[in-house]
Amino acid sequence: MTIVDDEVWTGSRVKAADKEFVIHSWSTQGALNPIPVAGGLGSWFWDYDGRKYLDFQSQLVNLNLGHQHPRLIEAIREQAAEMCYIGPGFAQRSRAELAEMMAHLTPGDLKMSFFTTGGAAANENAVRLARHVTGRQKIVARYRSYHGATAGAMSLTGDPRRWAAEPGVSGVVRMLDPYTYRCPAGHPDPCPVCSGGPHLEEILQYENPRSVAAVILEPVTGTNGLLYPSEGYLKSIREVCDRYGILLIFDEVMSGFGRTGEMFACDHWGVVPDILITAKGLNSGYVPLGAMTVSTRISEWLQDNKFWGGMTYAGHPLACASGVASLQIMQDENVVDNARIQGERLGAGLARLAERHPSIGEIRGRGLFYGVELVKDRQTREPLAPFNASGADAAPVNRIIKAAMDRGLYLTANFNVLRLTPPLVIEEAEIDLALDILDNVLPLADEHY
Ligand code: PLP
Repeated sequence: MTIVDDEVWTGSRVKAADKEFVIHSWSTQGALNPIPVAGGLGSWFWDYDGRKYLDFQSQLVNLNLGHQHPRLIEAIREQAAEMCYIGPGFAQRSRAELAEMMAHLTPGDLKMSFFTTGGAAANENAVRLARHVTGRQKIVARYRSYHGATAGAMSLTGDPRRWAAEPGVSGVVRMLDPYTYRCPAGHPDPCPVCSGGPHLEEILQYENPRSVAAVILEPVTGTNGLLYPSEGYLKSIREVCDRYGILLIFDEVMSGFGRTGEMFACDHWGVVPDILITAKGLNSGYVPLGAMTVSTRISEWLQDNKFWGGMTYAGHPLACASGVASLQIMQDENVVDNARIQGERLGAGLARLAERHPSIGEIRGRGLFYGVELVKDRQTREPLAPFNASGADAAPVNRIIKAAMDRGLYLTANFNVLRLTPPLVIEEAEIDLALDILDNVLPLADEHY
């Protein structure tokens, strides 16, 4: 006897079962109407009726190599045939190979890696390790941040999704963000918040710098508005950390592996963290995978001190094999170069759109990591949707997303910032198509002007 009716899984059958039995993330279930997806290839996915969508999100900004990359699929198949699973206590080929590759590809003296099932778990381990290495408790994190949905990672997270998880894990202290377009301190240049170090320094004076184990931040803020720091920001944060023996953790779960047109976002500014967190683009998410890669100094510390972390699926062979293949494909197919080249095309196209659409307040981006901030007025910079908008407040932005979707362009927004993050293998004609569709839907924002 089969467990469910042995019928043909049409799109409507998938949708019906999904509606009744699947709990979706961050949503009121009754309000959902997800598209039943039948397949994908490259920068495209499609539904059961053959309707195609240009994936200008790379799903959750993870599908850097696009949908169904054949070499990546083959590597997973090969690993599955060789060995699907062996416990984290054994030395295993794909795990060892990926760790060695990471030591070569990551900046500075980052060396040993611990592999997890995603970004949140890697952040959790980074914070715990930082506390053990320094013997201190407090962690400084920023407000406009997203570090994951597990208890500790949610406590590090600043964005409003944190509220539902409060009081959360103790010991997190917050700092403001380098949101130069809407400077949180309201200062003209040079601003102590937007330049990093002075703001951190002031917070540390009140918190006792000798009680702080680590500062964690996204070198380029992803989910919370695509914020790029000023030229000296990361360097000045690094200097303050060094002054007080505080470890610096870069969360590059979204920005890593070519997304910004460099292998890592921190490479733009030549600043090396003590702990680098990655996931998503590490293997395009074909199998759940995250990584914590630590400096040589911490690697040495680990030789004589216990690492208090572990999971059944830490360093999963299938995930690691997909990571190995993914990093090799990136090199063979010049994926980072493509991200840079197509990113320049996207940036130039967006600049042209800004001449025609007054609702474009600011365009921020490098590589294929772009945010377009929509406003009701360029002078006052009143946002098209306020911070944490929902319901009627969010409607003006939601209408744009829907109109784009109706025209076959999949994109999303955070509050009033459109997120443009296509696969890094995207082609010129696809960039142009997306720009065309944006040109068609942006009048919906302009009309609020
Ligand atoms: N850190 C950053 C910067 C992220 O963008 C995300 C997810 O979007 C995470 C951490 C959490 O990663 P995961 O969902 O794999 O746990």
